[in-house]
Amino acid sequence: MKNTTALKFWLDDFALDHPLFIAGPCSAETEEQVLKIAHQLKDSKTSIMRAGLWKPRTRPGNFEGVGALGLKWLQKAKAETGLMIATEVANANHVDLALNHDIDVLWIGARTTVSPFIVQEIANALKDTDRIVLIKNPVNPDLDLWLGAVERFYSANVKKLGVVHRGFSTYEKTKYRNNPEWQIPIDLQTRFPDLPLLLDPSHISGNSNLIFELCQTALDLNYNGFMIETHPDPKNAWSDAEQQVTARQFIEITKKLQPRKTKGEGEFQEILEKLRTKIDIIDGQTVELLGKRMKIADEIGVLKKKNNVAILQAERWNQILKRMLLEGKNQNLNEEFILRVYRAIHQESINHQTKN
Ligand code: PEP
Ligand code: MN
Repeated sequence: MKNTTALKFWLDDFALDHPLFIAGPCSAETEEQVLKIAHQLKDSKTSIMRAGLWKPRTRPGNFEGVGALGLKWLQKAKAETGLMIATEVANANHVDLALNHDIDVLWIGARTTVSPFIVQEIANALKDTDRIVLIKNPVNPDLDLWLGAVERFYSANVKKLGVVHRGFSTYEKTKYRNNPEWQIPIDLQTRFPDLPLLLDPSHISGNSNLIFELCQTALDLNYNGFMIETHPDPKNAWSDAEQQVTARQFIEITKKLQPRKTKGEGEFQEILEKLRTKIDIIDGQTVELLGKRMKIADEIGVLKKKNNVAILQAERWNQILKRMLLEGKNQNLNEEFILRVYRAIHQESINHQTKN
């Protein structure tokens, strides 16, 4: 697959003067809930309403979706509001059902994108379709696997394609449910600048309070749109309750988002803004890592106190310094700089340990 401006024609057809918004509940729960949110979203900037019918759940025993029963609720929502409708498909049977019920947009979930066999099965079932197909990143941070899935659809002559960045699984939990790893979509954008790129801040954050800031970062990185889980009563949602917003909150977010300041101000400004956004992301990660390091220092402090061991262990400190000077050299970092940074980090660790 090669980059071509034809990749974004379907998005241009929306003729929007703002990013594309896809909003709607994590899961369709009841007919009433689907119709309620559809009407709440009708006059917002939403073009497409999402609702999951077949829900891939991490552990069995959770709500696994209403299944095919919900298809007619989605059709009704479309008929009553004029919104286009999107749902997740995870096998060829889902595809047949979705195509037969006028679902406009089909998305491939993160747990499906990881499996080339299933992706191929779905791509075959969608061969030559003119429906829009959005491919979420795989749960593991692997750009080639993500692009491989896109290529399987492209080769099946599915040409209205887009990708959705929903973050990546990590064992150690950060402030996000799924780590954004912004570098991966940025690399994807560099290789396929015309492939529409959407952000799913809901599954990245796992927390409705973080949706806005994630969307703004994505907008600064030139993303084309958003998929935001929106529910009439988030607290009582049957799945992903913590990350869903109300229609009112969703509308606030769409109003608050600032288009990139540099629009039309030339290439220099545009590149500069993009690089600055990258720096902002890395600065955020740096401080988060320092916070984690100090928490471990706190634990060591408690342990040393319990065992009556001195806080400053010169040998250990020399080891750290030696290792970091070597790492620094590999990264082309000045020795004096590493010394200054590590002295400060070490001092702060000692402060943390002595607090206990
Ligand atoms: C979803 O969009 O509801 C979903 C299950 O997403 P993901 O595949 O990103 O986990
Ligand atoms: Mn969800």
